[in-house]
Amino acid sequence: MERIYIGMGSNLAAPDQQLRNAIEALAQLPDSAFVGVSAFYQSDSLLPGQPRYTNAVAALDSALAPLALLDALQSIENDQGRERLERWGPRTLDLDILLFGDRLINEPRLKVPHYQMHLRAFVLYPLAELAPADLQLPNGTTLGDLLAACPFVGLERLPL
Ligand code: ATP
Ligand code: MG
Ligand code: MG
Repeated sequence: MERIYIGMGSNLAAPDQQLRNAIEALAQLPDSAFVGVSAFYQSDSLLPGQPRYTNAVAALDSALAPLALLDALQSIENDQGRERLERWGPRTLDLDILLFGDRLINEPRLKVPHYQMHLRAFVLYPLAELAPADLQLPNGTTLGDLLAACPFVGLERLPL
């Protein structure tokens, strides 16, 4: 089993409920054990004219291969009505693999660590609720280093 962190986001069709449904689905994944989920965080869309996002991070232990996990996550997205009309368009559900154990993955369909996690407060702050500050990325950077370089700006942590 490897520890996997999944970034979740939604800004359509009752975002908080979309994330709750996604957590239920993640808890049913085969060969996997659900570990926990952060609080929910709201922020304005990075692109103008879209509804606000709700984001959270979930942790799983899984024996699934990375591409099998990606397939499973994409089928959860599809089950929850994800439509891919434009890049970074509004979405009912986005599930991104942030970290997969200590692996560096560079497949056409899957890059891990997620290529922008270090820039995204809505990823790093919820991740920090589940992972220690000395958690190392494959390049040796720690989560604490990334947090120190990414201010907590524009994020609203929702009460549990
Ligand atoms: P961003 O990647 O900037 O967060 P997005 O999540 O909206 O944007 P998607 O439309 O969900 O992008 O995914 C586009 C493609 O990214 C997927 O088809 C998938 O194959 C690929 N991908 C590459 N790396 C990852 C990853 N770590 N997690 C999820 N999908 C990934
Ligand atoms: Mg994404
Ligand atoms: Mg995605």
